[in-house]
Amino acid sequence: MTAPQAEAVIDLDAFRANIAALKACAPQSAFMTVVKADGYGHGAARVARAARDAGSEWLGVATLDEALALRRAGDRGDLLCWLAAPGADFAAVIDAGVEVTASSTDQLAEILAAPATVRPKVQLKVDTGLSRNGAFGEQWTELVAAATVAQMGGAVEITGVWSHLACADEPGHPANGAQEAAFNAAVDELRAAGVEPALRHLSNSAATLTRPSAHFELVRVGIAAYGIRPDPRMTYETALTPVMTLRARLAAVKRVPAGASVSYGHTWTAERETTLGLVPIGYGEGILRTASNRAEVGFAGGRARQVGVVCMDQFVVDLGDAEAARGDLVTVFGPGADGEPTAEDWAEAAGTIAYEVVTRLGGRIERTYV
Ligand code: PLP
Repeated sequence: MTAPQAEAVIDLDAFRANIAALKACAPQSAFMTVVKADGYGHGAARVARAARDAGSEWLGVATLDEALALRRAGDRGDLLCWLAAPGADFAAVIDAGVEVTASSTDQLAEILAAPATVRPKVQLKVDTGLSRNGAFGEQWTELVAAATVAQMGGAVEITGVWSHLACADEPGHPANGAQEAAFNAAVDELRAAGVEPALRHLSNSAATLTRPSAHFELVRVGIAAYGIRPDPRMTYETALTPVMTLRARLAAVKRVPAGASVSYGHTWTAERETTLGLVPIGYGEGILRTASNRAEVGFAGGRARQVGVVCMDQFVVDLGDAEAARGDLVTVFGPGADGEPTAEDWAEAAGTIAYEVVTRLGGRIERTYV
């Protein structure tokens, strides 16, 4: 085995500490750690285990395949999935003890028709204003009617009802109150039909941090568990520590004269003689090309600018007059404790959100767990 091009070091102690702090924000509610998209790029199987150790009663994923992968990795706890294309194999997840989401009467019918050997546990999703997945308006009334009939006939157990907020990262946004009111009305409709859901849930990380009225019986927390703020402009009372540090070893170092231009399109030119370092990862690993010429990395206790466009397998940093050699460590991003930028800084440089910075990482990057 050769040395890795780069590694994402995942600090599971920080992850567990974030979960403990976030659980304290919603002490009356059960806690779901969202580990979809390979645990937001952190490695779903490992973070799932750490989440359980930290007292996460639930795990949440988007797809049925993600749920089955967690079962194969040994997870046996409460687990919910919420996104299924037509023709999805519901029987496999139901038999694996995974709770599934019905967002429409069609989807409920697919769940009921699945040749599972146990009675499915189903949670109903209502669209309260995100206009994404979930039953809206008349569709909700139809879904409630169909679910009630199915439950009375013993074909399903309706265990929960839930929805998702559009603007939770802006606590003062009027959509939050409107969605909460719509959610309560949807729950009332379900209760009036004779179904009492054990679990109501509406909160993502932002609402868990800022909106106790939306906590209900369960909160669904993703990004904050990974130590990233839902909105980087906000200071939350709950301290979070970034879980991922991305680092690489310089693959080449060279001294260039003033006037040397860097990478495709020559978008950056050295104004004076300087030392360039080559970081052997690029957009093939998920490094965002839109951060070109704007991001920084941590180097030797300080920062170095990323210069020229980010390429598929490599990008260049301007090390100035720093001592540098092939093999020296560069911290692309991390918690920021040693002066290095954070994933939030990279997101700002790339014009995106830190969710994307960590979730996109893959390719030739190895993950190491500490
Ligand atoms: N619930 C659902 C349905 C989601 O899709 C997500 C992620 O987008 C979450 C909860 C967690 O959101 P966040 O990462 O903002 O906490």
